[in-house]
Amino acid sequence: MPATKNRRIVLAARPAGEPKDENFRLEETNIPAPAEGQALLRTIYLSLDPYQRGRMNAGPSYAPPVEVGQVMEGGTVSEVLESKAAELRPGNLVVGYTGWQEYAVADGKILQRIDPTLAPISTALGVLGMPGMTAYTGLLNIGQPKAGETVVVSSAAGAVGSAAGQIAKIVGCRVVGIAGGKAKCNFVVNDLGFDACVDYHSGQFAAELKAACPQGVDVYFENVGGHVLESVVPLMNLFGRVPVCGLIAHYNATGLPPGPDGVPPLMVAILVKRLTFRGFIVSDFLQQRPEFERDMAQWLREGRVKYREDVVEGLENAVAGFQGLFRGQNFGKLLVRVGPEPGK
Ligand code: NDP
Repeated sequence: MPATKNRRIVLAARPAGEPKDENFRLEETNIPAPAEGQALLRTIYLSLDPYQRGRMNAGPSYAPPVEVGQVMEGGTVSEVLESKAAELRPGNLVVGYTGWQEYAVADGKILQRIDPTLAPISTALGVLGMPGMTAYTGLLNIGQPKAGETVVVSSAAGAVGSAAGQIAKIVGCRVVGIAGGKAKCNFVVNDLGFDACVDYHSGQFAAELKAACPQGVDVYFENVGGHVLESVVPLMNLFGRVPVCGLIAHYNATGLPPGPDGVPPLMVAILVKRLTFRGFIVSDFLQQRPEFERDMAQWLREGRVKYREDVVEGLENAVAGFQGLFRGQNFGKLLVRVGPEPGK
């Protein structure tokens, strides 16, 4: 019998610091009916991403916040169940931003069809989707790596970092990853093909990073901030480039970190070494989507880019999975399997 109820996770209260269980609420509602131009979708995969922490805060950012009581925002891969949109039919698979829920209606115009013969459909939320495109556009436009240069990538075992480092290898760079723990570092070197990877939890992190970068650092692909950034800056070469992609070490911060003010030494390094730091949001480069999709699909086919996914089972486990992002519990692109893939 077809389901009649939708389960969804809403923002129950805005968090202070780490997101806690009580900041979310699992609710049951009726399955909505599509209006003209819309489709009814069944969620298969939900993407859990660090940016969703920012959406839980009130106040201005680069995108509006989720309101208290609203469904948590998130990218999804879904199956079309019913369509009143000219461009979609039942059975089509689509990527959209339909949030943390089992069923949703969305405008056909804002959904993107997925070709399931190209790659596993989950990759539309990872290496072939937003995180892969973030790595591609941030590294190539802002990092501008050249063959022979040294590129350092933080959160190197994660969705964005793993792609950024492998693209830098394709360009011909020496690539050094930074990740939490031995297992992730081994994966980054042995499976992804980075030249080295340094565990930032190690007591000798700064010295080990320096040893891994004997020619200094030309590009630092910044995903984390905090003490990792402080250890990379002294190694930057003249005219080095820093695409500032993410600062996950700060997303749960409730105030400034204790200790001396790090801004003066950072500004001196930027001046003296003529460094370029540039923040970006993947949507800044939307027009490069066709090139990204062409290149990434080819690199995947050729086995030059590999990816790893960490799949949590069931919408009810989304909150725990999301909380784990900020503790390094995910190993690869974090997804929730909300429902089965068609035919599985
Ligand atoms: P990841 O798959 O990399 O998962 C997050 C990882 O961050 C964790 O597994 C953990 O890895 C690491 N981490 C968590 N807390 C800390 C900390 N305090 N210090 C250092 N590392 C930490 O996530 P994504 O690939 O999706 O995102 C990576 C970054 O890219 C994030 O900062 C995100 O906000 C940013 N981003 C930016 C976009 C843009 O448009 N600018 C778009 C997409 C993502 P470990 O075990 O190695 O510590």
